[in-house]
Amino acid sequence: MRFESKLPDVGTTIFTVMSRRAIDEGALNVGQGFPDYAIDPRLSRALVQAVAEGHNQYAPMEGVVLLRERIAGKLEASYAIKVDPMTEVTITCGATEGLFDAIQAVIGPGDEALIFDPAYDAYEPAVRLAGGRCVRVPLTPPAFAFDWDRVRQQLSERTRLVIVNSPQNPSCTVASRADLDALAALVRDRPISILADEVYESVLFDGRAHASVLAHPELRERSFAVFSFGKALHATGWRTGYCVAPPALTRELRKVHQFNTFSIVAPLQHAIARYLHDCPDAWSGLATFFQAKRDLLTGLLRGSGFEPLTPAGTYFLLVDYGSLSRSSDIDFADRLIREAKVATIPLSPFYAAPPSMTLLRLCLAKRDETLRTAAERLREFGTRVAGTRV
Ligand code: PMP
Ligand code: GLN
Repeated sequence: MRFESKLPDVGTTIFTVMSRRAIDEGALNVGQGFPDYAIDPRLSRALVQAVAEGHNQYAPMEGVVLLRERIAGKLEASYAIKVDPMTEVTITCGATEGLFDAIQAVIGPGDEALIFDPAYDAYEPAVRLAGGRCVRVPLTPPAFAFDWDRVRQQLSERTRLVIVNSPQNPSCTVASRADLDALAALVRDRPISILADEVYESVLFDGRAHASVLAHPELRERSFAVFSFGKALHATGWRTGYCVAPPALTRELRKVHQFNTFSIVAPLQHAIARYLHDCPDAWSGLATFFQAKRDLLTGLLRGSGFEPLTPAGTYFLLVDYGSLSRSSDIDFADRLIREAKVATIPLSPFYAAPPSMTLLRLCLAKRDETLRTAAERLREFGTRVAGTRV
């Protein structure tokens, strides 16, 4: 049988590729974004309790009500906004499912979604599976700022969605309220929805405040905002996230969600709801926690040949290896795994047409000891190759 791939050019995600390579080569994995430290024991206990109490059958399709209520409470506390847990909040299988469902709900054959390069890798395949195509507008390094004039030029009659990610993975930049105003002005009077990937909403550094589309009255009406307990609770393997959108958009999202995953693991939802009841400010320490790790790793890497760019948010750090090598980031990252025994994430897979750049992404969500070892290995490698320029 001849089988035609729907995504012939799509390989395995770079996160999986690099994590597998790290295992194969016995390298320290500071690539894929996941913590290497334990979750809060109260969260583990809450899960054991939820199972013992019998929360082992299908959860409601939209999500456990108590959890949705806690999320509404959290949004009110963080952004002073009212969200109806019944009609505006849906629990999803990680943020990834929320992104996928929102894209399927909005995009049809021939439609366009505008995304910003470097873009998180889950957006484009989902748009294409829906029959649409992505129009990619670059954020140009080193500042990776939005170019709203360029966005205006790229909007068309077929544009149905703009996907914004702030704090942004992998550029580690954040959108300001002025950026959201510019976006709102551009989509005003057009049939364009916004998909806001806000999974790093609590990880902004140096006193910055997160500008959520939910707190922007004009954007709120046309936005899906996607969040992840994987990030907020240091538990990426729990695969629990949520999407917040006005009732009309939520109805469409749930039409997809109910035939995609139907509902999310029941005991996990109960455990998170209980945990958020006991620790309603679980989010509040994240920025300080990761900023300390950012400062530690930045300090350790200065002068090593892996020059850190200061991240404004996310739990990642970009480093520029340009003084050591002009090799492509994929080749260089592979060499680092083999020779320095450190796995990182190259940036080119986040682009449709990667510009020439020498940046790698490191994950900060690691024990200080892991970050120290990674920095030591990178410094040794840097010292060894300095001057040889390969
Ligand atoms: N969006 C961004 C920008 C991410 O970095 C990630 C994962 N780290 C996700 C979405 C997916 O989140 P989840 O693991 O909850 O599916
Ligand atoms: N979002 C994580 C990262 O950026 C990876 C998630 C995944 O591997 N699906 O590293």
